[in-house]
Amino acid sequence: MLIVMNAGATEPEITGVIRVIESLGFRAHPMPGATRTAIGVTGNQGAVDLSHFENLPGVAEAIRVTKPYKLITLDLRPERTVVDISGATIGDGSLAIIAGPCAVENRDQAFAVAEAVQKSGAKFFRGGAFKPRTSPYAFAGLGKQGLKILAEVRDKFGLKIVTEALDDATMDLIEEYADMIQIGARNMQNFTLLKRAGRSRLPVLLKRGMAATLEEWLLAAEYVMAEGNYQIVLCERGVRTFAQHTRNTLDLAAVPAVRRISHLPVIVDAAHGTGRSYMVTPLARAGVAVGADGIMVEVHARPDEALSDGAQSLTLEEFEQMVRELKAIHEVIA
Ligand code: PEP
Ligand code: MN
Repeated sequence: MLIVMNAGATEPEITGVIRVIESLGFRAHPMPGATRTAIGVTGNQGAVDLSHFENLPGVAEAIRVTKPYKLITLDLRPERTVVDISGATIGDGSLAIIAGPCAVENRDQAFAVAEAVQKSGAKFFRGGAFKPRTSPYAFAGLGKQGLKILAEVRDKFGLKIVTEALDDATMDLIEEYADMIQIGARNMQNFTLLKRAGRSRLPVLLKRGMAATLEEWLLAAEYVMAEGNYQIVLCERGVRTFAQHTRNTLDLAAVPAVRRISHLPVIVDAAHGTGRSYMVTPLARAGVAVGADGIMVEVHARPDEALSDGAQSLTLEEFEQMVRELKAIHEVIA
């Protein structure tokens, strides 16, 4: 259920409604907007009797939600969500660029990329300390040591740190060292992890699962929101298809499709979405053109020597050139 307050509803009227929701054993999710506050209600198994709310002071309407989503939708929040990552924003109309190596390998490697990322004007640095690898014998990240290097990157270069959590224990550590939690494609339906992220104070970057429908992906975001964390950025990173010319098929139509349903920002990962470095810049350009709030790419000073995902990593020079092109496209469409 969704309760829409009158445009002029007062703070005591809003808290009054919240109190009634909670007295029924449900959870209230107030979303203040430009013109009015809406309150999402979760925790009810069946339909709630709307008459509990319709006559409360300040209430304009109580609406039964028939769609599978309650909180991620434009019905609840017609304005776009702006996600604040330690003072840097995604979703406010600017172009966010999240760049860095697939994995943090050592300090020199991370610093070399961070310097280029900072120089380009990008605000976000990515790098895995805990890597979900297909093979148990592949490099799985430096763990806590990697997080410490990421924290040094933040201090030295002023970049916001985005890094992947694999489970509760790694999320505890990431909360100590990073600015944004990435939930990877392989964990998009790890529901206990999603709930844990929903209880975090950090914003969440939620990648689309490699075989996930739009509805499954948005419901994964709903899991996080239902626990009270409304700061989520969705990331399209390609899905698995029969195509063999790319690692994944980057589904750029997901960007306008998300926009039509949700207030959450959506970005495009052109690295995992292609798997081939020569395709990264063209698809990143397309991501900006299709209206994404940001682009994620992988960058390495020596992609040939990268311990993971070298084939889809841009060199420092290629990255610099790409950012110039993305900015030009963004300026035209903004
Ligand atoms: C990554 O960002 O390095 C990563 C593992 O991405 P995904 O979960 O999209 O495969
Ligand atoms: Mn990677």
